[in-house]
Amino acid sequence: TTSSERHRDILSQRAERLFKTLSVSYEQPLIIERGQGQFLLDEHNIAYLDMVNNVCHVGHCHPAVVAAGQEQMAKLNTNTRYLNDNILDYSQALLDTFPERLSVVMFVNSGSEANELAMRLMRCKTQSDELVVVDGAYHGNTNKAIEISPYKFNGPGGEGAAEHIHIVPMPDPYRGPFKGMSVESGQAYAQSVEQAISALQQDGKQLGGYICESLQGVGGNLIMPNGYLKAVYQAVRHAGGVCIADEVQVGFGRVGSHWWAFETQDVVPDIVTLGKPIGNGHPMAAVVTTKEIAAAFVTGMEYFNTFGGNPVSCAIGKAVIDTIESENLMGNARDTGDYLQTCLRKLQKQFDIIGDVRGLGLFIGVELVEDEKLTPATAKAQALIEWLKSRHILLSLDGPFNNVLKIKPPMVFNKDNVDYFIEQLAQGLSRINA
Ligand code: PMP
Repeated sequence: TTSSERHRDILSQRAERLFKTLSVSYEQPLIIERGQGQFLLDEHNIAYLDMVNNVCHVGHCHPAVVAAGQEQMAKLNTNTRYLNDNILDYSQALLDTFPERLSVVMFVNSGSEANELAMRLMRCKTQSDELVVVDGAYHGNTNKAIEISPYKFNGPGGEGAAEHIHIVPMPDPYRGPFKGMSVESGQAYAQSVEQAISALQQDGKQLGGYICESLQGVGGNLIMPNGYLKAVYQAVRHAGGVCIADEVQVGFGRVGSHWWAFETQDVVPDIVTLGKPIGNGHPMAAVVTTKEIAAAFVTGMEYFNTFGGNPVSCAIGKAVIDTIESENLMGNARDTGDYLQTCLRKLQKQFDIIGDVRGLGLFIGVELVEDEKLTPATAKAQALIEWLKSRHILLSLDGPFNNVLKIKPPMVFNKDNVDYFIEQLAQGLSRINA
C-alpha cells in the first residue's frame, strides 16, 4: 500500500473504533513509530524535531528512564499496601526539590487526578468549594477538573461556570488591560482577585482557594507580570483560602532558573499539582502539600489509589529526577531557552507579524498578529505550522485565538536545534507574508 492509502486506512479505523472526540495534529496527520531524544521518527525513519512535547521531558525514550522501568517491571509491581523502598527513595528525592514547608506527597496517575485531589484537600482544609480560577485555564478532563477549567466550561461544548467558581482575567501583559512585566502591572491584575474574593464574601460565602497554572499553558504560554502571585496569595490567605499551583505543564526545571515555576514569582503555594513530565511519558502524577493540609485530609475515609506510587512508577520518577540533575537539563533549559528567545527577538525586528516573544527557559510563546491592534494572525499561524512540518519541525498553536506558537520541547533541545528552527521559521514567515 502507498503511504496515503495507509493514512486513509488508519484514519478510517480510528473513526470506526475510537471516540470521535479524539483529534489529530495536521491536515495530513503523521504516522509516528519511534522517539529518540528531541526527535520523533515516522514510518520512513524521517526524524522530526519535536518542539512541543513537554511530557518526554528528558528526551524521548531516554535510556536511563527506560532501563529503570524495565528493571522494576521485571522485579515487582504492586500497590502501596506493602512496604517497599522505591516510594521512600522517590518521595525523598521529589520533596528535596521543594521549599521546606511543602513536605508531604500523594502519588496519583494523571494531572486531572492530581487537581481532583487538590480540590478535596481544599475542601477538607476550608470546608468550602468556593474557588477563584484564572480565565482560559485548563486543569484536566474529569468532571471536577472541567468544572474548574474556563477553557473547557466556557469553550465549545461547555456549560458555563458553576455557582461556586469565580473567574478572574488572565494576567496577560501583552494583550490584557495592564501591559508589561512590572510589579505595578502584576498588582493591577491581582486586584481582580481581591475583587472576586470581596464579591463572594458579600454573598455570605467563605473562600476555599485559588488555583493557577504557574505559567498559563493553553492560555497561550503566558508569563505573569512580576509580583502577581505574591499579591494574589496574600489576598487569598487573608480570606482564609488555600493557594494551589498547577505545575502539571511547566514544572521540573523547564523554566531554567528553578525547579518549579511558582518560584519565579517568589511565593510558596499550599498545594502543588504535578504531572506530564514527572514520568517522562509513563502515566503518573502527584500532589505535594503541607503537613497541616495533609492532616486535614484525615477524615476517617481512606484514600486508596490502585496505581499511584507503585514501585515501577517510583523507579521511573526517580530516574527522571536523577537525569535532570546528572545532565544539567535545567541549566540547558536556561541557556538554550535564552538563546532561542534572543534569536526570536532578532526575527521580530524583521517580521511585524511577530507581535510578542515571551518565555522562561524552554517554555516560550510567540504570538502572531496582523497589525498594531493585535488582530490575531490565526490562519497564518496555522499555515506556518503546516509549512514547518514540511521542514520536519513539530510545533503547535495555543491561546484563546490559536495564534501563539507554543514552544516547549524536551529539555535536551540544543543550540543546533535552535539554529535549524530559526532558519526554517524565517523562511516560513517570508512565505506566509508574501
Ligand atoms: N493541568 C494542566 C496545566 C495541563 O496542561 C494538563 C494537561 N494538558 C492537565 C492539568 C491535565 O493533565 P492530564 O491530561 O494528565 O490529566
